[in-house]
Amino acid sequence: MEYSPRKMQNLLEDKEFRLKKKFGQNFIIDENIINNIVEKSKLDDTTLVIEIGPGAGSLTYKLSQSAKQVLCYEIDTTLKDVLAETLKKCSNVDILFQDFLKADVVEDLKKYEYDKVFVIANLPYYITTPIILKIIEDQLPVDKIVVMVQKEVGDRFKAVPGTKDYNSLSVYLQCFYEVNKLMDVSRNVFLPKPNVDSIIVELKRKKESLPFRDPALFFQLVRDSFGQKRKNLRNNLTNYPLDKVEEVLKRHNMDLNVRAEALSLEIFIEIAKEIGGNI
Ligand code: SAM
Repeated sequence: MEYSPRKMQNLLEDKEFRLKKKFGQNFIIDENIINNIVEKSKLDDTTLVIEIGPGAGSLTYKLSQSAKQVLCYEIDTTLKDVLAETLKKCSNVDILFQDFLKADVVEDLKKYEYDKVFVIANLPYYITTPIILKIIEDQLPVDKIVVMVQKEVGDRFKAVPGTKDYNSLSVYLQCFYEVNKLMDVSRNVFLPKPNVDSIIVELKRKKESLPFRDPALFFQLVRDSFGQKRKNLRNNLTNYPLDKVEEVLKRHNMDLNVRAEALSLEIFIEIAKEIGGNI
């Protein structure tokens, strides 16, 4: 029997499943949106898809038809029966019932063979930023990310220096990924209907190799620079060799009184190189 979001709603009722706000559960109930996400992701049968939060499995079911393998992380164990029913014919889907933020994804991936890894998900909005930071900081081998996010958060992905949306996430993303908005999504396609607007964004891994051999210092520097929002670099980077930081800033007509929001990705990279040698 073909799966459909309408059947998903009936299934949720049959299994007496209660949607949980604390897990950011807003399930997609519009098949067009699901088809759009899968089509725009341009996955093929060599792709392993990581889905964070399969929910009732609407998107998972469609992904399994195009991908080589789908590996899901779902925190809510009360979805086991629902997912078993939705995905009973999908032999290429594995679901790990655990918190994605605590998962050892690199280890989990060792079980599989694949050419590419895509992350495709309707993300739980309360942890969008930690999820993206984990993908980048754990250096997961992800070629492309296609995710539904809250519109305001999506705007932050593309934010430029000097704007209120610019933060450590913008710097990381722009260092490693090319950010594209794919489409706006109406609130009416979710159950329950959220109070925010959503967009689907695509993050494509940049082709050129990273400017560092070991990005750990760069991550730490960016995180610490934005540490206390109102503080300038002199106060946020007390544990760093400030003379070296200042040397780079001078080249850009800035000094240690500047705040992280004013620094471009290129300046962060320059500072990381200056303080870390040839990192
Ligand atoms: N993919 C489904 C859909 O589009 O209909 C559900 C999306 S819903 C917005 C987010 C899903 O993420 C829920 O199923 C929720 O239980 C799950 N979730 C929340 N926090 C999680 C976490 N830390 N790790 C894994 N899954 C999580």
